Amino acid sequence: MGPTKFPVIVAIIAVLGAAGAAAEQTDDRRAARQVAVVTHDQTLRDALERIERGSAAWRTAMAALAATGRRAIVLTPEQVIVQDAGTGSVTVFDQSSVAEVSPVADQHGNVSSVLVVINVGRIQQLHDLRGSLPGEFHADLDRVIAHEVYGHAVPYLAAGHLSGRCSDPERGQPAAQSCAIQRENVVRAELGLGRRTDAALGGLILAGMLRN
Ligand SMILES: [Zn+2]
Repeated sequence: MGPTKFPVIVAIIAVLGAAGAAAEQTDDRRAARQVAVVTHDQTLRDALERIERGSAAWRTAMAALAATGRRAIVLTPEQVIVQDAGTGSVTVFDQSSVAEVSPVADQHGNVSSVLVVINVGRIQQLHDLRGSLPGEFHADLDRVIAHEVYGHAVPYLAAGHLSGRCSDPERGQPAAQSCAIQRENVVRAELGLGRRTDAALGGLILAGMLRN
């Protein structure tokens, strides 16, 4: 696939207006941070609140983003469609995928928001099959969000441009040298969720599932 034909994730629920309304109703600093990362899914909301409580780095990043008006929109697969940028054809989110990050940019590469799709149902299903405790499911969900939101989405939003891209490890590169995993590990450390030190996703119970 050429660079102009990658699939584009399109949010199909109206989260932007709701978040703006929430911001107008209160000037509380915590609410302001939560405007920088929004969701309409209760499981994801609970996870975002756990991470915010436990991670000072997360809180600092979200407070800085709130001042820019740029935001991460965290969605479940049911809340998005995937559009082929070349043909315009539309399909559903690949249910075998755990998560995807899709910056929303204009023709100059300016990024106003980043869509982050977290496949909550798939992560829950795999933990159910494994017989996990609820805390194990929550811990993995938080690790995935730390990677996708803090690792990938926040750098795009902080830069306000596609040049803010924070990469996954190149093939053969030690994971700990990659931008996204270094960032993920900052939040993991603050949450007591271990460190990801290799491409096999050390510490993630669902090792091998997270491609992005
Ligand atoms: Zn990644």
